Amino acid sequence: MRVGELLARGRTHSFEFFPPKSDEAQTQLISTLEELSPLNPSFFSVTYGALGSTRHRTRDVVVGLARNGSVPPVAHLTCVGQTRAEIDELMGEYKAAGVENILALGGDLPTDGTSFDRAEFRFALDLVEYLRMNFDVCIGVAAHPEVHPRSVSRESDRLHLADKLRRSDFAMTQFFFDVEHYRRLVDELAALGVDKPVIPGVMPISNKGQIVKMAQMSGAAIPTWLTNRLAELDSAEDVRRFGVELATQLSSDLLAAGAPGLHFYTLNRSQSPREICRNLGLV
Ligand code: FAD
Repeated sequence: MRVGELLARGRTHSFEFFPPKSDEAQTQLISTLEELSPLNPSFFSVTYGALGSTRHRTRDVVVGLARNGSVPPVAHLTCVGQTRAEIDELMGEYKAAGVENILALGGDLPTDGTSFDRAEFRFALDLVEYLRMNFDVCIGVAAHPEVHPRSVSRESDRLHLADKLRRSDFAMTQFFFDVEHYRRLVDELAALGVDKPVIPGVMPISNKGQIVKMAQMSGAAIPTWLTNRLAELDSAEDVRRFGVELATQLSSDLLAAGAPGLHFYTLNRSQSPREICRNLGLV
């Protein structure tokens, strides 16, 4: 089932996972998938390490989900540092397994200053165009409500996003904590003549240090009121419960703002996403 068709039928709710690195992490992921399946998810998405670092592990999870057949997978695919031959090989395996959805991403550049000369793709748009020309799949792209950290300006961020979204089927966003970021993004795209579905990404906070690190990496702001509230919470369980409360409120505000679906970042754990879905009546 293609995400474009699911969105055309009505609101979606979906979950993101990363591919496991160890047997223990594999067992954890399997339990999480089993615990989330009864929520009748629209799709599951599986991340792909920058520069292809999780290539085979991502493929194994995506192909496993496709073969299982109960929840359609969306395979994340980053293109920076990948060759056309590598993309073709992976897409061949996905086609054979019946995978119909790709999240086409630029991917992050090496952080150690290494430059690489395998520059067959530079931006996500290059991958979107390549997939469109060569494969019959539903294509999603990434959107950054608070602007991508490498964008030279808000205007250029929106112009490049509008350009890639025009050629694809839907967008999924980076996480954020204020519904106004989503409203503004959708309005700015509409002003550029783009009204493709933009599914907001919702991150339930489960750990204080981790959320600060992830926000820094992704360009999401942690508002002062949120920093202050987190400082008042002592135990890990208090933080997790607060994360569920906050994500429930944000999700409800997003649905009221007209979001076509909700995509939950799970970090391969099911407890918070299950509680949020139950609070929202999505069970
Ligand atoms: P692009 O669309 O290529 O944009 C990157 C930057 O280049 C932006 O600043 C953009 O404005 C600019 N730009 C675009 N086109 C041009 C142009 N023609 N000229 C000049 N500038 C241009 N990362 C992973 O490694 N693996 C994942 O699985 C993964 N999943 C993600 C899922 C979601 C929903 C989101 C929101 C992000 C995800 N990321 C993932 C992170 C993403 O790969 C990084 O943010 C990456 O730095 C940019 O990806 P992009 O697809 O937005 O890139």
